[in-house]
Amino acid sequence: MISVPETTVDTPVIRIRNLHKSYGQLEVLKGVDMTAPRGHVVSLIGSSGSGKSTLLRCCNLLEDSQDGEIEFEGEAVRWRGQGLNRHPADRAQVTRMRTNLSMVFQQFNLWSHMTILQNVMEAPVTVLKRDPAEVEQTARAYLAKVGIADKADAWPAQLSGGQQQRAAIARALCMEPRALLFDEPTSALDPELEQEVVKVIKALAEEGRTMILVTHDMKLAADVSDHVVFLHRGKIEEQGPPANLFGNPQTERLRGFLSATS
Ligand code: ADP
Ligand code: MG
Repeated sequence: MISVPETTVDTPVIRIRNLHKSYGQLEVLKGVDMTAPRGHVVSLIGSSGSGKSTLLRCCNLLEDSQDGEIEFEGEAVRWRGQGLNRHPADRAQVTRMRTNLSMVFQQFNLWSHMTILQNVMEAPVTVLKRDPAEVEQTARAYLAKVGIADKADAWPAQLSGGQQQRAAIARALCMEPRALLFDEPTSALDPELEQEVVKVIKALAEEGRTMILVTHDMKLAADVSDHVVFLHRGKIEEQGPPANLFGNPQTERLRGFLSATS
């Protein structure tokens, strides 16, 4: 018999069970289950205010939650306290999860006082304490990958929105994370700039990166996802392969949502 180690290729990068999250009296997530298997793209869709960003931020512990389990590569988040007083217990675990689950935000969030190259190098050098010369090589390679190698020495303000978002994707990639978490990466962009970012996201999906993608772009979700989750008021209303969700929605709510967004 071959003994199989605890963490195998089948261990999901992220697994969430029965997650509850409130802001004071407002319960935003009401028992959500979600799994991001390695090499898969999971898309989160739903109306504004349904809890998509909150769920994404709970995944990498940018937010606390009040109940439920979160696992990163088979390792359960250890909590202390209960309910509104529940917080992750272990700083090292929080750091490991935040650095391994890199976020890309709607508003890019580049540091305006740093060049594009400095933006991409910052976290690997300061947080992961990697050798700057090596990081620079990696950073330049990722800038080339997203098609803006020539912008390394430019300032964020000198770039178009599409270029800034591609720089933010290069910055996330330079952490060499186990998964990428995208929160409406194309929402702030004009339609013609949106496509250059869509192209990058599709290329990342094709090379088998694990991703959770919050998007309002149903065509993108249909094209890149292995699994789509439709969130409605903090609960999963419907989920499944994109062909099912978009081609044959089962619930009135999803049908209504899709006809409103098309
Ligand atoms: P979505 O990303 O699907 O639009 P969000 O996760 O941003 O939804 O928000 C879900 C709900 O939680 C909304 O009602 C929103 O107003 C509320 N909310 C989000 N962030 C906070 C916060 N930091 N404090 C209080 N309420 C919040
Ligand atoms: Mg949001």
